[in-house]
Amino acid sequence: MAKIIIVGGSLGGLFAANLLHHRGHEVTVLEKVVGSLDGRGAGIVTHPSLMQALTLCGIKTDNNIGVPVDRRVTLDQLGNDIAEMTLPQILTSWSKLYHLLKENLPSHLYLDGKSVKALDQDDNSSTVHCEDGTSYTGDLVIASDGLRSSVRNLLAPDVVPEYAGYVAWRGVCDEHLLSKLSLTTLFETFGFGLPPGEQILGYPVAGSNNNIQPGFRRYNFVWYRKTSDAELIDLLTDADGNYYPQGISPIKVSWRNLAKIRDAARKTLAPQWAELLEKTALVFFQAIYDVYSEKIAFHRIGLMGDASFVARPHVGMGVSKAAEDAMCICDVIDQYGANAEALRAYEKIRLPVGQRVIERARYLGEYMTEQGQEELKKDLPGIAKRVMLETAVDISKQLQEA
Ligand SMILES: Cc1cc2nc3c(=O)[nH]c(=O)nc-3n(C[C@H](O)[C@H](O)[C@H](O)COP(=O)(O)OP(=O)(O)OC[C@H]3O[C@@H](n4cnc5c(N)ncnc54)[C@H](O)[C@@H]3O)c2cc1C
Repeated sequence: MAKIIIVGGSLGGLFAANLLHHRGHEVTVLEKVVGSLDGRGAGIVTHPSLMQALTLCGIKTDNNIGVPVDRRVTLDQLGNDIAEMTLPQILTSWSKLYHLLKENLPSHLYLDGKSVKALDQDDNSSTVHCEDGTSYTGDLVIASDGLRSSVRNLLAPDVVPEYAGYVAWRGVCDEHLLSKLSLTTLFETFGFGLPPGEQILGYPVAGSNNNIQPGFRRYNFVWYRKTSDAELIDLLTDADGNYYPQGISPIKVSWRNLAKIRDAARKTLAPQWAELLEKTALVFFQAIYDVYSEKIAFHRIGLMGDASFVARPHVGMGVSKAAEDAMCICDVIDQYGANAEALRAYEKIRLPVGQRVIERARYLGEYMTEQGQEELKKDLPGIAKRVMLETAVDISKQLQEA
């Protein structure tokens, strides 16, 4: 059986570790953060490949995996329903998936506080070196170390995250805090709002302790807003003047910027969305980036998940793509053994898929451009239907066949 070193212990790394361990391989996960990662992330749209990967990890999923939603609606700025459609989906949460995957993996295989800083490889093995002076050698190294992947940086330094020109304001609001209006017109749906040049969407997710009982759930929202480079610098600066160019922690976002965003919500969004922004204790934002790779296999080291590609979240498939990458890595190792040939086969299959996901996500982001806005003025309900039909739906088959 093979020995595989996995860099990054978030959802991508955990999928790879669980799948490989389940097939009898020896895995070691190296995660730089000490302690649990829980508390990061919010809602995740599930797709069939995500459920398939969980099953292949030996994880039994039941109705508790998430909150089922049947309908999508778009609210105009006054809060009226202007377009709707039936589209059943299950909405889970980052935290639920993290716990399922982490608890399914024997704890001695997951090492935290291990920040990978250097790599080397030869014809027979690959090795990572960590900040704390330890090194780990395997037949293969699989890097799932995210948007700012250190491994990608060492192997393909030209591939850098490209800012898309907008940020996503995010948060989750407790169900029991919401008014009857928001509960009856928005809460049970995958909701959308399309104010000029912006987009907001949301859906119900499990509440604390992954509770999906009515009354205990939360509503997860993602509000995309154009943000200039100068405005982004201001957002990435905390109330004490400290600037965090790589991303600011949710608890550090300046109270002045939070006041501004809540004010903007009152002025530009439907009352249901504005209420969510008011009543969510921890509103935070993520700048939206594209990462587009030309190569994801480097002899005995492979990139997967957000380390290989980051698509704008309109496609809602970052976790599903990471799960698909992990399943593909397992399959090619079964077929070729844990060697460079297997990773070449992985690249042949997954590189074009990743590139198409980026293109698709850019297309969905076009709605927020000038041209998209012109179309919107002509036919708001028509555009609303298109946005609802195309956002965060399962497109894995089309991506593989394209
Ligand atoms: C606004 C927004 C909404 C989203 N919505 C969805 C959605 O609805 N559905 C969906 O599927 N996806 C969604 N995503 C995307 C999704 O969160 C990611 O694509 C997915 O989590 C892939 O994770 P990953 O494990 O590859 O990387 P990450 O989750 O970024 O994890 C990387 C891990 O590597 C660790 N690490 C980094 N450097 C090192 C190092 N040098 N050594 C060791 N460890 C290291 C980090 O600490 C981290 O734990 C969304 C993203 C955003 C921004």
